[in-house]
Parts: sequence; structure tokens; C-alpha cells
Amino acid sequence: MIGNNETDLSLFEFQKAFPTENDCLKYLSNEKWKDGFVCKKCSNTNYCNGIKDFDRQCTKCRYLESPTAGTLFHKVKFPLVKAFHIVYFISTNKKGITSTELGRKLGLKQKVCWLFKRKVMKAMDSSKNFPLSGIVEVDETFVGGSDENAKGRKKGKKKLVVVAIEKKKNGVSRFYAKVIDKANAENLGDFMRTTIEKEAKITTDEWTGYKPLEKEFVNMSHKKSGKKGENFPELHRVIMNFKGWLRGLHHHVGDLQDYINEYTYRFNRSFMKGNIFDNLMNRMIKTPPQTYKMIIG
Ligand SMILES: [Zn+2]
Repeated sequence: MIGNNETDLSLFEFQKAFPTENDCLKYLSNEKWKDGFVCKKCSNTNYCNGIKDFDRQCTKCRYLESPTAGTLFHKVKFPLVKAFHIVYFISTNKKGITSTELGRKLGLKQKVCWLFKRKVMKAMDSSKNFPLSGIVEVDETFVGGSDENAKGRKKGKKKLVVVAIEKKKNGVSRFYAKVIDKANAENLGDFMRTTIEKEAKITTDEWTGYKPLEKEFVNMSHKKSGKKGENFPELHRVIMNFKGWLRGLHHHVGDLQDYINEYTYRFNRSFMKGNIFDNLMNRMIKTPPQTYKMIIG
């Protein structure tokens, strides 16, 4: 760990912590095996050092493992110092950072940054371990198309997204969102089961898709949404901010859900300050390697 919960991790502090490849490997090794070494082949817990620095070799079956093996840093074709910078910029820039900007800052090709950024976004997927609680609101919205307000927009390009917010003191403390194909009880229920506590005080609009879920979510009530969702002002502010951020990216390509994950990840961890880098690195280490094909889909 290099951050703390009190202050943001400055670029200066970050660069001081990771000046060389060896510093990065040391960090990965410490974090990956912080609960002890377990051989992937035979589950033996004793190891000796490998040939390269920070590699570990099983003393029983001789299986050799590098600190990057089995993580999203597996086979990264550019220096780890730069890969760490990408994770730093993505986790600490309030609005994220484009692959073009990353390329310029780090002297890498935009395409290289784009691919690695997609991997980081995979690590930002919700753990589903922290469901929303207390006062919660749920609604759906359409997202996408090249221009939200353009004339003759194609509804076919728009995606339906269900959004849930947790309210605290006139604001929104956390939120989750998911792309769905239809706003039926099955899809809404799947989303709500993984993101909201059963006892939460949930308010939705009067859409029929929510009615069958009243048995499960016992404190659910409904109210008229209003023409532009004016009865759910905080929820619609969150949606507008997200859409504005998405438009600002210009060339967002690929899975809308990945962009939702990136946005909600940062939003829901704004309290983490300096720890957000360590948190995202830990997820990078725990997420299995992704091939180009897996990312393109
Ligand atoms: Zn072994």
C-alpha cells in the first residue's frame, strides 16, 4: 500500500514510490502474496526465489510464478512503470482520462493505451459486495447514440439502462447502473437483487415492471415520475452527469457497461482519497488476464 485515506495521492508521491520496473514488481509481489504464497499447481505454501527478482518458485513441484502471472499485468508489452501510471491517472482523475491523453503523457501509442485502459475498466466492475441501503430510488433511462439531442436520432442505437441511487443528506452517496434489453420484472429484479439490500426503502415510478418485485423488496413504494423525471431530481442529476461525461469522451467505443462501471467505480469511491490507487491495483491483481479477443467481445 502506498496511499492513505486522508489525502489524495499526489503525482509526486506516486512517482517517488515507483521510479523503476523493480519497484513495480516489488509492489505487485507484496500485494499478490500478502496473505502468503500458495502454489497454483500443487497448493504447497513453501517457496524459494526464482531466477528473476520477485519470481517465486514452489519448493515441491518447482512451478515458477512471476508477480504479473494471473493478473491483468500479464504480458503487458510496455514498461510496468507506464502501466502503473495508467492505473494512477484512471483512478485519481476525477473524470477519468482518455487513451489519447494517456498516450501523449506517457509516450505510448493511443491504441496501446486504449487496450490497457479497457483492462483497467474490467477491474472496475462492481464486486456486488456492497449493496445500496437506506433510502434508494430506481428508474430507467436511455443512453447512447452519437448525440443525445440530435434530430432524427436513431432509437435503435440507444441502450436502456436501469439506475439505482442511495440518498444521503439531499445528495447521492453511491449508485449503480446496468444495461438491460427490456424493463421487465426479470431484468429489473436481477439488477435490484445484486445492488440493493432487501430491506432498503425503495421508491420507483409506477411502471408495471416493478410491481411483481414488491414481495421481495418489502419496503418498496411508487410515485409518479413526472414528465422529465422531476419527481426524482437527484437520480436524474446523476444520469445527466453521467451522460455529459460519456459525451465528453468523444470516441467511446465498445461496451457501454464498461463505461458505466468506470464511472460508478470512481463515484462510489470518492471517499477513498489516496487509497483508491491501491484499491484498483488490488483488483488488477485479482482479475485474470484478458486477451484482445475477450476485450473486443
Ligand atoms: Zn507446487
